[in-house]
Amino acid sequence: MAGEDGSGDQPPAPEATRVDAAAALEPTQKTRCIPFEDCVNGITKALRHPTVRFMREQMEKVGCPMPPGMIRAAECGTHTHTGNYSSGKGIKVCCDEILHQEDIDRLLIHELIHAYDDCVTKNIDWKNCAHHACSEIRANHLSGDCHYKRELLRGFMKIRGQEQECVKRRTLMSLDANPYCSGVAKDAMDAVWNICYNDTRPFDRAP
Ligand SMILES: [Zn+2]
Repeated sequence: MAGEDGSGDQPPAPEATRVDAAAALEPTQKTRCIPFEDCVNGITKALRHPTVRFMREQMEKVGCPMPPGMIRAAECGTHTHTGNYSSGKGIKVCCDEILHQEDIDRLLIHELIHAYDDCVTKNIDWKNCAHHACSEIRANHLSGDCHYKRELLRGFMKIRGQEQECVKRRTLMSLDANPYCSGVAKDAMDAVWNICYNDTRPFDRAP
């Protein structure tokens, strides 16, 4: 687009200038994530968030202190998720999907719930869809991912029962990426729903 504009012999008409300005917003929209360096600093900042600190303390208490380098900044290029946790590898923050500091705070809480489950649930098997579903229910419920304010921003206006619907929706989205959940995700989620939704460890109740 810029090349085409630049190759014109005629001076740009006012209207063309306006089109140019509009086009210039395109890349800005595509890369509206925060700069990588801010994302890296944002991770350090998030480690001081009270809930993140609480989760780290709880990890220590159950015998799984976070090793240095457990949380790393990355460019994921997937446009499907803002980060992930994997056993033995730790937490990855997809900086190219992070728009606000709050995204990092919430993501770390979410992934630390997975890390916590990995630590306290003996024999947890991420290839078992019910195990994965349980941890997703807890992570989406306890991280504030489904707080009503976030739901309003996403355009979901129903308040009554919205939190649980949101947890279910986001749990299924996460299970979608697990090949072992193919065709069984909803059944697996429903089977463990009551137990896992009401399991608010290490919190006394959902924060
Ligand atoms: Zn998750």
